[in-house]
Amino acid sequence: MYVDSHCHIHLRELAKRQDEVLRNMAANQVSHALCVTISLADFPAALALAERIDTIHSTVGVHPNPDPKDVGELDMEKLVELASHPKVVAIGETGLDYYRVKPRQKWQMDRFRTQIRASRACGKPLVIHTRQAAEDTIKILQEEGAGLDKGGFGGVMHCFSETMPIARAALDMGFYISFSGVLTYPASKDLRSIARLIPLDRILIETDSPWLSPQAFRGKTNEPAYVVEVAKQLAMVKGMPVSRIARHTSENYFRLFGIADNTHSS
Ligand SMILES: [Zn+2]
Ligand SMILES: [Zn+2]
Repeated sequence: MYVDSHCHIHLRELAKRQDEVLRNMAANQVSHALCVTISLADFPAALALAERIDTIHSTVGVHPNPDPKDVGELDMEKLVELASHPKVVAIGETGLDYYRVKPRQKWQMDRFRTQIRASRACGKPLVIHTRQAAEDTIKILQEEGAGLDKGGFGGVMHCFSETMPIARAALDMGFYISFSGVLTYPASKDLRSIARLIPLDRILIETDSPWLSPQAFRGKTNEPAYVVEVAKQLAMVKGMPVSRIARHTSENYFRLFGIADNTHSS
């Protein structure tokens, strides 16, 4: 069994063919998926799916990108309240993204800090998005005590595509490292060398669907069933059977998000 630790099947074209997406997951032994919220406006759709399907869970949070005038000020208490639902297992995705906006905008950093505080207040881990902002992301995680070493609840660096020192800093705080279809791209040689060094008990796999289709499906809309491609690539990189990758990444997912494994398979 495989687990997709980060997808957005409540959004866009995937939302329109949700039942087919779920059938494709089952046909490819993808047992669980985490439906990640990008703003409070899409949270009800993610939660509705998690309430309907036993093996789907959701997060609550606001992506670093949307402009403050689109999402308003983020209220920590409201976040904590929404996160108290038993099918909500994490806060995010949150973090910093300097690709689309100017670096170090106060609103983006404040919004990130608020969500780390919410994670500490509700006892649920963080789903971290970082793009061209890795050093600042790590610095704020440290300052706000997000790591297990500081009494925080850790989390995952989703769609990891940074350097080994950044991976080490995240691992030192007790965070997990999640690899997406980016790992399968011909140009991702450096990333594959990094993946080789990440301990097996700290790796997650994800699709980030509908975006970032793995190499075998490039040009098509990504979906959770394709997470198997990421597992296969990781198996090649680490020189071990894909069944071992599947087992460890699933166990890691259940441990990090406090989800009971009700599939009873190895
Ligand atoms: Zn992201
Ligand atoms: Zn995402």
